Amino acid sequence: MTRSPATPAAKAAAGTSTKKAAGHSAAKGGASRSPTAGDETDASLNTAEALALGDAIRTFVSGGRDTRAMELLRKLACDPPQTLLLEGGTAQERFFAAMYWAALLNCPGRAPQTDGAASPRSLPSQDPASGYDEPKTPCLACPECLRFLSRSHRDLFLFDGTAGSIKIAPVRELKSVLGTPPREAAKRIVIFAEAQALTEEAANALLKSLEEPRPGTAFVLLVPQREQVLPTLVSRSWALTLAWPDPGSAGQEEEQEWSRRFAEFITQGTGLFERSGARGSMDAAAAATALTALQRGLAAAMAGPASLPGNPLARAFAALPPERLRMADEVIAEARECLDFMVAPGLALEWAATRFFLLLPRR
Ligand SMILES: [Zn+2]
Repeated sequence: MTRSPATPAAKAAAGTSTKKAAGHSAAKGGASRSPTAGDETDASLNTAEALALGDAIRTFVSGGRDTRAMELLRKLACDPPQTLLLEGGTAQERFFAAMYWAALLNCPGRAPQTDGAASPRSLPSQDPASGYDEPKTPCLACPECLRFLSRSHRDLFLFDGTAGSIKIAPVRELKSVLGTPPREAAKRIVIFAEAQALTEEAANALLKSLEEPRPGTAFVLLVPQREQVLPTLVSRSWALTLAWPDPGSAGQEEEQEWSRRFAEFITQGTGLFERSGARGSMDAAAAATALTALQRGLAAAMAGPASLPGNPLARAFAALPPERLRMADEVIAEARECLDFMVAPGLALEWAATRFFLLLPRR
């Protein structure tokens, strides 16, 4: 997720997620169990959002870069592993795949269709003549699917690590639920998005839960690369790799975001730390992209006025006297060195940003 201002926990917990939350939203660093009671006023909004999310997932599943992986998921759903680890792709694609998995395991429309009551918008199944054990497609539109998609299902537990670290308390809390059967669903779904945000304690607590058989529960760990979580968690999981993100457009977009954030920080002293300090989302690759954005901005500033429009970072750097431009170049090089020496990526970026802030002449 390149742009993920922390969704206010209370808002998400109340089930009034924003449009942006179609990617992710949940109580910060904790489990989101959006209560169903008391949301009547937001019900239609939630349904509309859930339907939109369902459409986005459908597009991702059938027209995305991951049709092969989704086909595998459908087959896997016939005999689902207790823990599925999804790596690769983008954070949003991993989340889509996780919600698709939740629907695959729970959509009543997946069963051989006899009564036609399942859904108004169900897709034709992969193979209409298929037998009982053949992979089927969830409808993503029936009440059961929509409860999952709107995150209001009582058997959905979503731990959102995109907004902060996932701490041990909610993971412990989950443990008390795991001993009981799902309340309504065929499978209780427990999603860790993104699992690299688990604190060490929380990861160990989760590991204990995964070690025991939990027939009513399907765990899903989302992570950019499996190396980012404890090897013991990986070895407990059935790992599926989504197609790695296309570095072209996604990388460009991310770089532009960094460019905007740095420009804002250098000129106003705000807008950066909430991104660079977001645990779990700041890895060395993201920091390297951020430094590339800086380098490009600096190069554009050095190249002269013609290259300034459309590049806010270049405009910010252009205010630097020439000797300070050289210093800025050194700062970027030193920040790269920090990354090479495994300095925490967020820290390396914040150090560089603070240096730039001080380099810029102030009135
Ligand atoms: Zn359904």
